[in-house]
Amino acid sequence: MNEQATTERLRVLALSNVSKSYETSFGPFHALRNISLDVEGGDLLAILGKSGSGKSTLVNMMTGLDSLSSGAIWSCASGGKQVEQMDQDALARWRGLEVGVVFQFFQLLPTLTVAENAILPMEFCNCFPRKEQRDRAMANLSNLGIAEQADKLPHDLSGGQQQRAAIARALANDPAVLVADEPTGNLDSETSAEVMELFTDLCKAGKAVVMVTHERDLSKYFNKSILLADGEIAARTGGV
Ligand code: ADP
Ligand code: MG
Repeated sequence: MNEQATTERLRVLALSNVSKSYETSFGPFHALRNISLDVEGGDLLAILGKSGSGKSTLVNMMTGLDSLSSGAIWSCASGGKQVEQMDQDALARWRGLEVGVVFQFFQLLPTLTVAENAILPMEFCNCFPRKEQRDRAMANLSNLGIAEQADKLPHDLSGGQQQRAAIARALANDPAVLVADEPTGNLDSETSAEVMELFTDLCKAGKAVVMVTHERDLSKYFNKSILLADGEIAARTGGV
């Protein structure tokens, strides 16, 4: 195998001319226009931009949480699927298996323990034997440094611990990419740095992490970025 082939990165998501308009009482509002970009394994890609520039809209397209108006998103990790052509059931399964989603406010289920939250996507996708699920969840929680919190309810954890639990849930089925909308937006700077170190380790292990932030001091962690302005890519760094 030549040098190029060994260093070639795996493309996990590909966006081609993605646009999104919202219907409003004043007519259509163009929140995203013609966004094209590739996400590759190992990328720690920041989506930057002012409030209202379209960051959350873009993340919601990438995770299939909202539908595109035009364009295409390809999920490449398992042979190439077009996200906007999946029905709701297929989308939910794809999201559980191939894309881990992390939210600003964690969104753990409050009546389930941390371990049960971390098992949930495995139960939903049913791709690991039931007797292995808890061990897999515990391994994830341990890697994230919160194994001893496994049997507590989310509200007994600090914000940073809850976000780690949410990351463990997102990693449940070992997806190729994590997509996170302001995952450090509700954390203090020390805890944010810890979460960024975790993301850095995941990227070194070959995963892609796409995250929205407007915290400038996190820029040292990213190897690629796009800057959104009025729904368009105004700048790119790192060859994205
Ligand atoms: P950001 O995450 O960068 O702050 P958003 O993606 O949330 O921006 O929003 C981009 C633009 O789209 C904003 O002007 C926002 O008001 C508008 N927008 C977002 N969601 C809707 C919606 N459901 N209906 C109408 N307009 C929306
Ligand atoms: Mg937003």
